[in-house]
Amino acid sequence: MSGPLIIPVFIPHEGCPHRCLFCNQHQISGQTIGKPVTAAAVQAEIQNWLERSNTERGAQVAFYGGSFTALPRSRQEELLAAAAPFIEQNLVQSLRLSTRPDCMDVEQAQFLQARSVATVELGVQSMNDEVLTAAKRGHTAAATEQAVVALRQVGLEIGIQLLIGLPKDSRATLRRTVEQVISLQPDFVRIYPLLVVKNSGLADLYTQGRYTPLSLAKAVLLAAFMKEHFDREGICVVRMGLQAGVELEASLLAGPWHPAFGELVASRLMLRQTRKLLAQAKTEAVRLSINDRDQSVFRGMKSANIERLRQLGLWQRISLVIDKKQLRYTVNNTHNRS
Ligand code: SF4
Repeated sequence: MSGPLIIPVFIPHEGCPHRCLFCNQHQISGQTIGKPVTAAAVQAEIQNWLERSNTERGAQVAFYGGSFTALPRSRQEELLAAAAPFIEQNLVQSLRLSTRPDCMDVEQAQFLQARSVATVELGVQSMNDEVLTAAKRGHTAAATEQAVVALRQVGLEIGIQLLIGLPKDSRATLRRTVEQVISLQPDFVRIYPLLVVKNSGLADLYTQGRYTPLSLAKAVLLAAFMKEHFDREGICVVRMGLQAGVELEASLLAGPWHPAFGELVASRLMLRQTRKLLAQAKTEAVRLSINDRDQSVFRGMKSANIERLRQLGLWQRISLVIDKKQLRYTVNNTHNRS
């Protein structure tokens, strides 16, 4: 069973020292520009989620959409205190938040831990300083390394958010980013393909013809490359692609958007595993097992995987078996089972 219910509370751009090139949290989160969210509104949002959700797996309140630890301490206190009564009643077990890597040190991490924060997600985006400068992030890769050390020292769970398709990023710099993130050993990673949203700096570049977004196929390929490497190192990729929503779709100008982006990546990886198993079996026929919930992922969008295997003359060598016990998103040659 997966992790706890995440109750998102959006604090769009709160704490952000400036606007990063690609960002428009107001449009992505669907929250209008206005006064910062009040403690009462935070509590109403949590209450609303608890009333309509299944919390069997526990619940965690997440402050997303801003730079939490760049806020004045009094504002951090106010937001965390708003969630505290739900923790005291054990309706919510812990808190999580997202922030910038350059706004974290041991003292800040201890402050959060003392107020029931269990997880911190760092908006890392890239580990290449040239790419970070082009994205107007205002911090370096070294800031990420220091933030991870501080969080680890205090024992908080660490998530890292990465973007694919940033200006000046390349296959080589992305590969290096993946290697560096692996060496940091975060608890989990999120991978987002860069989208051009209205009223962002990137939207200006795009309309001036100075930025070309990735195609969907290329973004899937790069995310698959990243996921394969993180999986191999036992680093969990908890999400790929932004959550679908009317606000996001209305604000989208361009970019590799797909509501089931993660599934496209999983599908690509299943094709890769299948080809590997066939190569290992040389010319023999194979009996491949997949989880019963993965049948459409295995086939690919519009049966693209099956089509590809046919083109390669490999499909006729495969007989497919459905096995409820097969690990999700994996393919196994049952002849090789012990
Ligand atoms: S990307 Fe993060 S730090 Fe940058 S403006 Fe958006 S919310 Fe703030």
